[in-house]
Amino acid sequence: MRVHVDPDLCIGCGICEGDAPDIFSLASSAIAEVIMDPVEPGFEADARMAAEDCPEIAIIIENGEDLETPTAPGADSADDAEESINDNDLERKFDMKAIVDQDLCIGCGICEEIVPEVFSLQNEPYAEVLLDPIPEEFQDAVREAAEECSEAAITIE
Ligand code: SF4
Ligand code: SF4
Repeated sequence: MRVHVDPDLCIGCGICEGDAPDIFSLASSAIAEVIMDPVEPGFEADARMAAEDCPEIAIIIENGEDLETPTAPGADSADDAEESINDNDLERKFDMKAIVDQDLCIGCGICEEIVPEVFSLQNEPYAEVLLDPIPEEFQDAVREAAEECSEAAITIE
């Protein structure tokens, strides 16, 4: 198993280092650095826990299946295989879903003001999510909407 930290997403909160201090470190950087690569089998559970706990979904896990597959399906060469694996990583990294809890939403419209491409109150008194998954270009705005929602009604997966 290998793990990567997306420097564009990491906020340096240190949760990963707390979960897996043998794998992640913020000792020499404002963002998390991977200090065990590849992750040794005995530490894989810690790496998964850190990835689950990361509030920014900044940790990408490249599992053993990827590493053990020299030629990915549809790839004609090792380079193609590597490119295909990287594409898979990108899909995982950018796969975001937003959910509005209608028991919490008060229909204030703040989320719609921040990112109308994703949230709408046009058809109902509560915010509706228009896009699933959330395209990359709207993900930062969706995070902002979730932070600004006074009712904490927006969950990001
Ligand atoms: S938990 Fe996520 S956001 Fe926090 S330091 Fe680690 S990688 Fe960065
Ligand atoms: S900001 Fe929160 S409470 Fe307001 S409409 Fe959006 S989801 Fe509902």
